[in-house]
Amino acid sequence: MTWPAFPFEGKLRIKKIADPVDIEPPRKGEDSVNCTACHTPDSEYLWANERWRVKTPPKPSGLPIVMILEPRAHLDIGDLSTMHAAELGVLTVRLERAIRSLDSVARVHITRWGDGSAHLQQWFMARPAGYLQLRGPFMTMWDEILPPVDEAQWKLDLDYISAWMGDE
Ligand SMILES: [Zn+2]
Repeated sequence: MTWPAFPFEGKLRIKKIADPVDIEPPRKGEDSVNCTACHTPDSEYLWANERWRVKTPPKPSGLPIVMILEPRAHLDIGDLSTMHAAELGVLTVRLERAIRSLDSVARVHITRWGDGSAHLQQWFMARPAGYLQLRGPFMTMWDEILPPVDEAQWKLDLDYISAWMGDE
């Protein structure tokens, strides 16, 4: 494997792909009664307004910043009203700017995987400045592999982003 971003080296074997199922099981929290996001108070979030909330994992990981933007209402991306969709665009740009303005960050990657939680989660993952090897889609793996960033600096960075989001 000569792809510089690929985190592994040596001989690897591809797993056998499981047979497809006829009927897929429901996703986690498909019903709002069992949805984690719908039952988590604002105090667990970094920032919130009337319709949106931003959270981070509880502890720092290998990347300088990992954040999740969620609608307050139990909605997936295809359920968003025009107003919600417009706000998602505005908040996506604002959060990207806030994270990218940190000295430790070169780029911010934005993703939404629809297979985990049924409640929309849009992820923001920051690539650390200078680490060209982390460019591209394997950065999510590097987040798990790299040692966690300094917790005191991480908290300062979160405070900074929270203040940026509140400064409308
Ligand atoms: Zn929900």
